[in-house]
Amino acid sequence: MSNYWNSFTRKLDPYVPGEQPKDRKYVKLNTNENPYPPSANVLAAIKDAANDQLRLYPDPNCDELRGKIADHFQLDAEQVFIGNGSDEVLAFSFMTFFSPENPVAFADITYSFYKVYANLCSLSPKIIPLNNDFTLPADAFCEPNGGVVIPNPNAPTGRGLPIESIKYILNANKDQVVIIDEAYIDFGGSTAVPLIKDYPNLLVVRTLSKYSSLAGIRVGFALGQKDLINGLNTVKNSFNSYTIDRLAGAGAIAAIDDDAYYRDMAQKIIATRERTIMQLNAIGFSVIPSQSNFIFASHKTAAAEVIFHALREHGVLVRYFNQPRIDNYLRITIGTDEEMDKLMEALKDILK
Ligand code: PMP
Repeated sequence: MSNYWNSFTRKLDPYVPGEQPKDRKYVKLNTNENPYPPSANVLAAIKDAANDQLRLYPDPNCDELRGKIADHFQLDAEQVFIGNGSDEVLAFSFMTFFSPENPVAFADITYSFYKVYANLCSLSPKIIPLNNDFTLPADAFCEPNGGVVIPNPNAPTGRGLPIESIKYILNANKDQVVIIDEAYIDFGGSTAVPLIKDYPNLLVVRTLSKYSSLAGIRVGFALGQKDLINGLNTVKNSFNSYTIDRLAGAGAIAAIDDDAYYRDMAQKIIATRERTIMQLNAIGFSVIPSQSNFIFASHKTAAAEVIFHALREHGVLVRYFNQPRIDNYLRITIGTDEEMDKLMEALKDILK
C-alpha cells in the first residue's frame, strides 16, 4: 500500500543537516555552532517567559524584537522581517522574490540549502563556478539572471566577499533581488547592512544561531527596504502568521541587548581560529583564509574522507562533503581552545 502513495508524492532531494550525534560524547566541530553558552541575561529572559507567558499566543508581528533589531542596525522596524531560523527567512525569500522563468544565480560551492529551496519552489538555478581559489567571480553574477544569493562569508569555504564586489553585483542587478546571507558575518566579514539605504534590491539575512549562541531557539531575520519586507510578510502571512514562540522571542530580545558579551566571544573564536590555522599548517594542511567561525582545510597527502572517519573514531566530529571540487576538504568548526587542542592531538595521532 505504501508504494501507492509514493507514485504521487513529490520527488525531492532534501537538505541533510550536520549530524547531532546520540551514540557518545564527541568534540563537536561539525555544525558551526558557537562553543560558548548564551549570556546569563538571555537564559534569565527565557526562564521568565516560561514562568508566566506560555498560556498566551506570541505577538504575530514580533514588534518588540523588530524594534530592538531596527535600533541595533539603525533602521526602521518596517525594514525588519523575523523568521524561525534564517533557513525559514531564506525559504520565504525564495518564494517571494524568485520565479521559474528567470533562474536565480548562486555558486557551485555554497550553502547547500539554496539548491533545495530552488527545487522546492520549482526554480531552475543558474550555478556559477567559484574561481579555483574559491573566491567569487563577481562578473559572472552580473550577467542576466533572475536574482542572486550569496553567503558572505561563504559556506563551507569561509571566504569573505569585499563590500566593493557586493556593490558591483547590486549595481548590475538593479531589477533583481540580491540576497546576502550574513550567517557568519560577525567573525570578521564586512556587512552589507549600510548599503540598504541606497539599494532597494538588497536583502541581508542574519541569524542568531552562530554569533548569539542560539541555534537551539531558531531565530533569524532579514533586513531591507520596506517594499521587500512587505513582500516577505505577505508570503509569510499566507502560511502561519505566528512567527516565533514566546521563549525564542524573549531570548532573542535579550541577545540583541547583550551585544558586548557576544562581541567578546566572537573575538575569542577569531583568536582560536588563527591559532588553529597555524597549527594545522605546521602538520601539512593548507587552509582557505577564513572570516567565519569555521575553516576549510585539506591535507597535502592524507585524503579528507580518511581523516574524517579517523577523527570520528577519535571522538572528534567535523564535516566532510562528498561532492565535486571539495571532496578533499574538511570543514572544521572553531570550538573552545580545549576542544581545538583535542582536535590537534587526534590529528597528530592519525597522521603519524
Ligand atoms: N545560511 C548559512 C550560510 C548557513 O550555513 C546556515 C546554517 N547552516 C544558515 C543560513 C541557517 O541558519 P539558521 O537556520 O540556524 O538560522
